[in-house]
Amino acid sequence: MTTTTASLSSREQEVLAGVKTDLLIGGEWRAASGGGTLPVEDPATGIEIARVADATSDDALAALDAAVRGQAALAELSPRQRSEILQKTSELITAHTDELAMLMTLELGKPLAESKGEVAYGASFFWWFAGEAVRFKGESRQSADGSGRTLVSRQPVGPSLFITPWNFPLAMGARKLAPAIAAGCPSIVKPAKLTPLTMLKLGELLLEAGLPPEAISILTATSASAISSPLLADRRLRKLSFTGSTEVGQKLVAAAADTLLRVSMELGGNAPLLVFDDADLDVAVEGAFQAKMRNGGEACTSANRILVQSGIAPAFIEKFTARMAAIKVGRGTEEGVGLGSMVDQDQVDKIGELVDDAVAKGAKVATGGERVGETGYFYAPTVLTDVPDDARLLKEEIFGPVAPIRIFETEEQAVAEANDTEYGLISYLFTTDLARGHRVAANLDSGMVGLNRGVISSSDAPFGGVKHSGYGREGGAEGIEEYLETKYLSMPF
Ligand code: NAP
Repeated sequence: MTTTTASLSSREQEVLAGVKTDLLIGGEWRAASGGGTLPVEDPATGIEIARVADATSDDALAALDAAVRGQAALAELSPRQRSEILQKTSELITAHTDELAMLMTLELGKPLAESKGEVAYGASFFWWFAGEAVRFKGESRQSADGSGRTLVSRQPVGPSLFITPWNFPLAMGARKLAPAIAAGCPSIVKPAKLTPLTMLKLGELLLEAGLPPEAISILTATSASAISSPLLADRRLRKLSFTGSTEVGQKLVAAAADTLLRVSMELGGNAPLLVFDDADLDVAVEGAFQAKMRNGGEACTSANRILVQSGIAPAFIEKFTARMAAIKVGRGTEEGVGLGSMVDQDQVDKIGELVDDAVAKGAKVATGGERVGETGYFYAPTVLTDVPDDARLLKEEIFGPVAPIRIFETEEQAVAEANDTEYGLISYLFTTDLARGHRVAANLDSGMVGLNRGVISSSDAPFGGVKHSGYGREGGAEGIEEYLETKYLSMPF
């Protein structure tokens, strides 16, 4: 690969040199049919670190041809064999933690410790679905009129397309691939063009784990629609699972209507985080910090609005601001860095625009509020108070290290404000009153709620949203349902 590696350490160069940058089509590594490539940048330095193949529509259709063959190959495997492939994949991911984490940090910018956390989180989906692969059930019963037997069985949906975002380069694909393999579905993955390297490495590990080669394709591309359009129009594709923005998700749902494709949508969020007067201050500050700063705020689960009851507000703001101001900002590979770079110029510009808008309308900057340095795409950990009703960041996903704080008086007011958004992915609340905790959690309009916890994503639990945050669930026993069809067989006794 042609890269500018002058600013990279020898370990970083070694890890990058170990990634196959061609397309993976039905288990074979190939250059793009058009011969093109696209650059991958280190957002901490703005320097090109790799070039990956730029897939065309022809490559997409070749991947679908392979997936159809992959369906038959997977059908020949027993549930236990699929389970063993998943278990092996989990072990291989764990064994390659350092390499995967380094790739992730180089292409996304987050600190190495966070990247290692994502590697463990990604591996856990393969571990979890290794168990589910041998456990999904059918049913047999006497028909209601007594004339025969009703058998209900589960079958794989079929060839599946996964389109994933840049913010969790491993985990967003792992959440789809693992249940698909457990159910027996072949997969085509289109990772985000900003962060394709980690997924390409995962492709190698899946093959090493023994996945039938035809059952996996990974297509990196400049034009996402050059991949998705021909596939969504082809009746051989049976499933689309998308993680990304609501705007793109809506377009894909419309495009999938012609073939009545089964669709799962994991879309944007605008998470409220409520702190009641009776909360444990330290637990609330730490929880809010985790909920805000995981992945540098570049997460759909990121606390986008922090709503604090008036009695605890002064102490919360003081302690939370001190916690945010103490973060060391720098390249994710450096020791002790708590916040790396944002993913690109657009992202850092959008964060700056939202903060400037809030400040122009009257918000006060308690800490941060500006870009850091001239090289790379860094933005300071920021706390805003006195944020007015019409500030754009209360309605739009910030996707960065910015915490807007608002004060409320009553529970009713807090719940109404929390639900005043088109999104419904996740909400958080902090209280020591368990009755209040359950009552407020029931009234919050979101697919997930964290009670006295700032991070709740886990492979053993159903992740997903309501309203404009999409539909479908990833993880938990529910996660495999997205990849199974129900078949009913009727027979006389
Ligand atoms: P995005 O712009 O919607 O892109 C997501 C993926 O869709 C990328 O692979 C992108 O390809 C592709 N894409 C873009 N336009 C497309 C089109 N017209 N047709 C087909 N594919 C298209 O989102 P993002 O900026 O990468 O990610 C951030 C968003 O993801 C946020 O809104 C965040 O909340 C959401 N998210 C949701 C979850 C969840 O589980 N609910 C998890 C993580 C992130 P390119 O790379 O070429 O643009």
